Order: sequence, then structure tokens, then C-alpha cells
Amino acid sequence: MIELKTPAEIQRMHVAGRFVAEVLSEVGRLADVGVNLLDLEHHVRGMIERRGAESCYWDYAPSFGRGPFRNVICLSVNDAVLHGLPHNYTLRDGDVLSADLAVSVDGWVADSARTVVVGTAAEEDLRIIRATEEALEAAIEVARPGNRLGDISAAIWAVARDYGYPVNTEFGGHGIGRTMHEELHVSNKGRAGRGLTLRPGLTLALEPWFARTTDRIVYDADGWTIRSADGSRTAHSEHTIAITEDAPLVLTRRESENPATRADSASRLSAKDA
Ligand code: MG
Ligand code: MG
Repeated sequence: MIELKTPAEIQRMHVAGRFVAEVLSEVGRLADVGVNLLDLEHHVRGMIERRGAESCYWDYAPSFGRGPFRNVICLSVNDAVLHGLPHNYTLRDGDVLSADLAVSVDGWVADSARTVVVGTAAEEDLRIIRATEEALEAAIEVARPGNRLGDISAAIWAVARDYGYPVNTEFGGHGIGRTMHEELHVSNKGRAGRGLTLRPGLTLALEPWFARTTDRIVYDADGWTIRSADGSRTAHSEHTIAITEDAPLVLTRRESENPATRADSASRLSAKDA
């Protein structure tokens, strides 16, 4: 059953969302050359404990994992893109780091992910990060009452196509609320005008992720970390949003984010030229 949230419940999710945003901002600041993934995970663990929040990843044991997961954040480097298991790895200049975090505060969950470059950025890495961020903003833009779930998928797919990135359909967005994964799968590829009609109170995690030159994935021996099958670099951007009578509400927006600039058509053009 799809549970529509009341405005009061959405406000409670927003509390969780603000905390997730704060942690991901901190991860972005800390991710630097010479930093070990285990130390980064430990730092986030401390933030979650001090906040009295609960990690949605700790003890998470889905069918595909060699679970249970004993970390509070997913950290995926370079060709790794989803469910990256924090391990003894020291970040190097030019690495691409995707951080994905879901926590529960007072029984309500928010889930968000971002990708950053460590040290010196290669233009092609910035480009794929920008593509996932633009796809996310395009998806949020159409998350309005009366539109369909397929409009969200189509919006993500259109940006991927513009950039020339293939889209994997095995992992995508999802319903969210009292738990990390609620009913509804939001594919990153789909047709406009199809699927569920969006209604106020619907809360979703939208999460475009792309690999540069493949839509296929492979799993590490750890049973968690998912990589691009051809080793090409990847990026992942995710926000938890609420559909309202008015504009969609982004519950995990980071203070430093400026979606207006990013959606700017000039930067979009230069990105495509790159
Ligand atoms: Mg996530
Ligand atoms: Mg998610």
C-alpha cells in the first residue's frame, strides 16, 4: 500500500532530511587526498550517535548483500557507484567518491547521495556528476500532482540521453517514509504519461546514477559494492522529496546547493560540448 503523508509527517521527515544534508555536507568537506574511508565512516557514525539518529544501513540485510551491513554510510569510489562498503582505502588525487546516507530521526527516514571529486578534478568526471545532478533536478521539477511516475523516469532518462550516458534499470528511486524502502520503484528510465498519478503527500527518494559507458553492473566479492561492468567512472545524486499541492519539497537539500545555477541552460550546453 502506498502511504500518503500528512504535512505534519512530511515536516518530521524534513527534520531527518536536514540532518542527512548536514552529514553529506560534512562528508564533502572531509573527503580529501589521504583520508581513509574507514575514518570517514567512523566520523559519520559519531555524528549519527550524537544526534540520536538511527542508521538505516546498520544491520541492513537484503537478499543481494553478504549482510548484515555493519556501516552507517555507503562510500563508493570511481567505478563503484552503489552500496560501496567502506573499507581500508585511502583517497587519492582525482578519485570520485559517492556517499549515500539514510537515517531515521524519531521514526522518520531521509535518504540522500552525492558524488564529489577528491583533489584535482578531471573534466569528464565533473561532467558525469553534473549529469546526475541535472537529472535529479529535472526529476524533482516534474514531481507534481497530476503528473505520472513515468514523467519522473522520463525526465531522468532525457538528461542521460542528452549527455550520452546509458541508464541501468535494476536500481533506482523508491518510496520512503517510516522505512528506507517503501512501495514504489522509480526507474531512472521510462515513458512520460505512464504509471501512477502523483498526489500530494507522496514521498519519494529520487536517485539518478550513471556510468560513463555502460548500463551493466558487477558486484564485488564483498557482496555489496556495485561497480560499472566495464570499469568506467560513475556518479550518483539522490534527494528525498515530498509532493505537495505547490512546488515539490526537497527534504535533503544541502545549504551549499544551488539548483537554479545548475539547471542554467548555458552550463548545460557547455557540459554537452565537453
Ligand atoms: Mg540512498
Ligand atoms: Mg535511496
